[in-house]
This record gives sequence, C-alpha cells and structure tokens, in this order.
Amino acid sequence: MKEFKKIGVLTSGGDAPGMNAAVRAVTRTALARGVEVMGISRGYSGLIDGDIRPLGLRDVSNIVNKGGTFLYSDRCLEFKTPEGMAKAVATCRELGIDGIVAIGGDGTFRGATDLTAHGVPCIGIPATIDNDITSTDTTIGFDTAMNTVIELVDKLRDTCESHARCNVVEVMGRGAGDIALHTAIASGASAVVVPEFPHDDDSICKRIKKAREIGKRNFIVIVSEGVGSDYGPALTKKIETEAGVETKFARLAHIVRGGNPTLADRVIASKMGVYAVEALLRGESNLVVCEKRGEIGTVDINYALKLDRMYKGTLKDGDLDPFTEDQIQSMKDEIEERKQGLLALYTVENKINL
Ligand code: ADP
Repeated sequence: MKEFKKIGVLTSGGDAPGMNAAVRAVTRTALARGVEVMGISRGYSGLIDGDIRPLGLRDVSNIVNKGGTFLYSDRCLEFKTPEGMAKAVATCRELGIDGIVAIGGDGTFRGATDLTAHGVPCIGIPATIDNDITSTDTTIGFDTAMNTVIELVDKLRDTCESHARCNVVEVMGRGAGDIALHTAIASGASAVVVPEFPHDDDSICKRIKKAREIGKRNFIVIVSEGVGSDYGPALTKKIETEAGVETKFARLAHIVRGGNPTLADRVIASKMGVYAVEALLRGESNLVVCEKRGEIGTVDINYALKLDRMYKGTLKDGDLDPFTEDQIQSMKDEIEERKQGLLALYTVENKINL
C-alpha cells in the first residue's frame, strides 16, 4: 500500500461556511498521523500555479468559527484542459504531494476524479450551501445558510407587519429547493415555490387576498432561485395586483453564503475532515465523503456524479454502463428517498402556511 508522507488540501467552487472547519480537521488529523499537510490556495488554480504552503498545527488555529475559506476558492477552467491537468500533476510530483482532499461541490469532485485518474489519489468533501449533492443528506454550509435566511426573513417580517406588506424573498439553491423548503417552514412563510413541485400563482394570490380580508397584515413568500430569476419579480407584481397587498421583492443572493458557520456545520465539517484523511491514509481514493441518516461514510465519486445526473434528469448515453443492476437500483432508491423527504417538507409547509 502506498505510504502517505504528505497530503494537500484545497477548497474549490462556491464557498460555504464550514470549509475552514473542514480544512482544520483535515490538517490536524493528518499531522497527528505524522503526515505533512500542504494548503493549496485558490482551488485547482493554486495546484497549477504552485500557490501552496505547508500547514502546521497553529496555521489552522482560530478558523473553526470563520466563514468563507482562508485557502480561498476559484473556478479554474485551465484545470479542465490536458495542459492544466499536466501542470497540476507536475506540481504534486515536485512537492511530493501523495494525495489530496478536495472540498467543494460536484465540479470540484469532477476535478478530483480526473486527478485521481492521473495518479494523484483524491477524496472529496461536499461543501455547498445548496445541499444539492444527492449522495449525502447534508452538505457543509447548508445549515448556516438556512439560519442566515431565517434571520433575514425575520427582519423583513417586522417591517412587513408594520406596513401591512408582503415580501417575496428569493433564496439560493441552484436547482435544489432544500434551502427554500426548510426556511419557508422555519420563517412561517405564507407560500413557497421550488423547482421540484408545480406552483400555482393564482392560488397563492387568492390565499393572500383572503387572509388579508380577515386581517392578516404581513406575508412572506419564499422562492427558490431554481424557478428562474424572473419568477420572483413577476410574482411580486402579480400579488400586488391580484391580492391587493403592497409587495416588495428581496433577492438574498450571496449574502447567505457568508457568516460564521453554525454548530451543525462546524461539527459535520470536522467529522467529514477526519473521515476523509483516515480513508485516504487507508489507501482509499476517488471517493466523496457523505452523511446518510447521521452516519458518515463514503461513496465512489463516479457513482455520486451519475446519481446526481439521474436525480437532475441529465444522464447522458452510456453514463450508467459501468454500474451493476444493483447499483442502478440503489441510485433509484436514494433518489426516491430524497424526493420523499422533500415532499414531506412541502406537505408540512402547505398545512401550516396560512
Ligand atoms: P462546485 O465544486 O461548487 O460545483 P464548480 O462547478 O465551479 O464548483 O467546480 C469547481 C472547479 O472544479 C472548477 O473551477 C474546475 O477547476 C474544476 N472542475 C469542474 N468541472 C470539472 C471537470 N469536468 N473536469 C475537471 N475539473 C473540473
């Protein structure tokens, strides 16, 4: 089995609160095992440019509580080219980096699987506020983002109540309605619109109109960005016209990507960081760390990426060829379970929204 003397750690793609806690856990776990750690700056860009420094125990002090990523992030197109990959592999050889823990989303995992295929074993850790990685119940940053959303919506509710207004609030999530569904319940929204379920704008307007007639002053409507950027502003106008309630639109956007990570994100990031290094040092690679029903484990990166495609309906010809019938069935089961989880949330929201 390959002996690991030195590993690298990087954060890539969209940043997420808790990435720092993961880097800290990776660093401390490896150092405790006598393995050196190199901090790679700006994701795969730093690997190409050699923007890399050793991380000691104290270099990761005082970051467990910090948002963003102190290693910085980047979207590196060059890494997708054969020349970029060759430079990255050469950097690893030059610096003696035996393996890498790559913290990010699905793009980061595609990079990690390519790098593994080129002889540098990698393990991915899922960090994205959107929670849109199907192979794990939770991603690092999701909990913090949701808590930030409800803090902001609570503030909007105060002013909506004072002025008898409605606020349509668009939240991030890419194609996933997870942030929207959870925060709609937790902020007492009057309606939620997510890409996973059909929406009926006329019914939203009618319900708001009726509730206003019997004296309700404030209304919050949560909209997931996955339904399209024009949707929220259009719904805002429609509510104002058809329900007769003054309505404002707020796009929370990147503000919910920042801030100190919550307890839940710090803990999951730490657990995943420890798990990733232990798996890598056991000789495992091309894996994504995941959390299923509270248990930390790993899943093959290619399985995770194809599972995501199956969930999103973007499978290409031949994508499933490398998998057995059992694996394909387990993908279908995971997708069904995820859909049922979202449906349960949607049902709860609908029962208590007005
Ligand atoms: P995220 O990891 O949050 O999904 P991106 O999709 O931007 O974010 O991916 C992060 C980085 O991973 C990219 O900038 C690129 O360097 C690398 N990457 C993405 N897709 C691929 C791919 N198909 N092959 C190799 N590297 C990739």
